[in-house]
Formats: sequence, structure tokens, C-alpha cells
Amino acid sequence: MSDPFEQLPDWEIRVISPGRVNLLGEHVDYNQGMVLPIAIDRFVRLAARPRADDLVTIESLDLKSRLQFKLEDLDQRVDAQGKALAGWALYPAGVAWALRAGGLEVRGLDAVLASDLPIGAGLSSSAALELAFALAWQAAGGWQLERMALAQLCQRAENAYAGVACGLMDQFACAHGVARHALYFDTRSLQWQPLPMPPDSAVVIADSGMRRQLAASGYNQRRAECEQAVSLLRTRLPDLRSLRDLNAAQLDEYGDCLPPEIRKRARHVVEEIARVQQACFCLVQDDAAGFGRLMAAGHASLRDLFEVSLPELDGLVEAALSIEGCHGARLTGAGFGGCTVNLVARHAAVDFMNTLEKRYQQDFGRQALIYCCQPSRGAHLLGT
Ligand code: ADP
Ligand code: MG
Repeated sequence: MSDPFEQLPDWEIRVISPGRVNLLGEHVDYNQGMVLPIAIDRFVRLAARPRADDLVTIESLDLKSRLQFKLEDLDQRVDAQGKALAGWALYPAGVAWALRAGGLEVRGLDAVLASDLPIGAGLSSSAALELAFALAWQAAGGWQLERMALAQLCQRAENAYAGVACGLMDQFACAHGVARHALYFDTRSLQWQPLPMPPDSAVVIADSGMRRQLAASGYNQRRAECEQAVSLLRTRLPDLRSLRDLNAAQLDEYGDCLPPEIRKRARHVVEEIARVQQACFCLVQDDAAGFGRLMAAGHASLRDLFEVSLPELDGLVEAALSIEGCHGARLTGAGFGGCTVNLVARHAAVDFMNTLEKRYQQDFGRQALIYCCQPSRGAHLLGT
């Protein structure tokens, strides 16, 4: 196998940082619920070396773009030429800013990166990028932080500096990935546990190629609807802190205080959290079929109750479920485009991928990009 760092300079700091796919538990992380992602074997790779001054130079080979900023300018959000930081620059600069705000030493750095993660497809290239830089600055600074604290600082960078209102799941999964395991993560208590993936199954991701402008506004709207559900339900349940605290029986009893749309959103969140818990039992019992049924139910709920699907995503899921060896399929990520995730019997995976690609082409005239992926280790320095 060729050296995956071949295209990068031979510098002392080398980081490998995976993307992630969420198997179950969609739109629940900002409701303090439980999620079930895996880190995948597609990565941002970063080579870096410390500098003596306070300049940061970064090159993204993927975007064929270079960036320079001074650490002293981070609050002003300008590059070394005084121009406003924008686009991808906000991610590494945001990480430097968040680390510094956390009292950590951030040094000048030269960095070059290359990635085989699709950008903006919902596989969290943004979190992979953030964690890669967090680990590079950690290595250069000589300090050491818990992985969860690193993930939280990266989330802060994405929320407050890049201006994207994501929950903690992406950075968590990127930082904590375990080979051959799914990651059960309670976004309220921050407790997590790796659970073995069924050894005879493969995780297949299908990128619909759809990228909706609507995605950010749709996501923010759903967040607001969930908050609205909580504040309305509080008139009946004063102790309710988030939809995480609600169960299905309570929703039946008190749901009449919610407008119908908002009630549907709440029902999705409540039932989706229950599905995550059932899915953990499936994993413990090596029950891939049971896990797959929960995925299919999760998709139906995202389509009908949370209303974040698209015909293309529904089509990919419907086609997948009709193919032999497919245990389950659902849209993954925020919705309005991006990818579906499929759990498939390993022996059937290659035929599954070919058939799904053909069906999508026939039905929608579009090319799906299909990847078979392995649950992988989280972001780390090479050689550690
Ligand atoms: P996702 O995380 O689902 O891939 P996002 O919109 O959250 O999508 O993040 C994508 C953004 O992250 C890109 O627009 C870019 O700013 C940044 N990014 C991701 N990968 C790279 C890369 N290899 N080089 C430069 N920037 C990247
Ligand atoms: Mg992202």
C-alpha cells in the first residue's frame, strides 16, 4: 500500500483524523439525547511543524488553497494580509481561537493537509479538520487534554467562530472512534461506550449528491421547533429541561398543548432516542436484522415526522431495503441532502453497492457515490 502521507511534507507532526457517520439517533444531539455514530476510514491527514514566530500557514491540497494568519489577529478574524477570514479558514483559525480561549498554548505552525472525505456531504469533514488541528497544536504546545475536552473546544470553534450551530456528536465521534465498534454517546452526561458492530455486516454509505442551500436554515428551524416544544410542554411539565426528558406516554398525555407540526417533531425525538437504546441491545446481541429494522423506522420518522428528507434520499432508502442482504437503511446527518447509511450483510455488500448505484441512476438520473466503510479509530498522531 502506498504511504497515505506521501503527498504531504515530511514534517514531525502527522495527524490522521476520521470523518463519521451516524447509525442512529438523528436530530437528537441538540435535544440532549443519545446517538450512535462510528468514525469511518476516510480521513483528513495533516502534516505540521512548529514555527518560531506567531504565524500560521496552512495549505489544503484538496481545495488548492493557502492561508496565512497571525495568532494575534484571531479575535479580529483577519488573515496576514488583513483580509476577513472566510470559508475554510474559519475552521483551523477557530480551533486556534478556542484553544487559546481555553488557556492553552497555541504556537505558530506550518501545516499541509489532504483528505479523502467528501466535503459537505454530511460525513463531518469539518469536525475531522478541527480535530486534526487541535491535535497538531496539542503536539506543538506540549500540553495534553482529554479527548472529550478537545472535542468540546472544536465544537466551540465550529459554533462560535465558523458560525455553524452543530451539536457535539461530530467532534465526539471523530475524537473517540474505536475500530470495529459503534459509539453509544449520551450527549447530556457525556458518558459513552463502544459497542461491537455485527462482525458479519458492512456499513455502506451512499452520497445522494444532493446539496441543498436549505440545509442550514432547515436545521436551525428544527432546532427552534424542538425548543418551542420544550417551552410549551413546560406549562404542563415544569421540570422538563429538554425533549430528552420526555417519554412517549407523557407526549400522549400532554401533547395536545403543541401545534401539530411541533408535536410531530417532538414525537420523532422521543421515539428516536428510544430506538437508539433498543439498538444498543441489538448490538450486544449481535442482532444485525433488529438493528436494521430500527434504522428503517428511523428513516420513516425523519421523513414523516421530522420532515427533513428528500425524494432522492427516500428513493435510495427504498431501493436499498429491497436489495438482498440489506438489514436497514436511513438518511444520515441533518437531512435535506447528503448521504444514506446502510447496514448490509458482508457477503452481499459488493452486489448491494452495484445494484443501489444502478437503481439510483435509473430512478433519478443521478450518480450516487457509494463507499463501504470500516468503523475506525479516532483522531490521533501517527505512531501513537
Ligand atoms: P461536512 O462536515 O458534512 O463535510 P460542513 O459544511 O460541516 O460539511 O463542513 C465542510 C467545510 O469544512 C468545507 O466547506 C470547508 O470549509 C471545510 N473543509 C472540510 N474539508 C476540508 C479540506 N480538506 N480542506 C479545506 N477545508 C475543508
Ligand atoms: Mg460538518
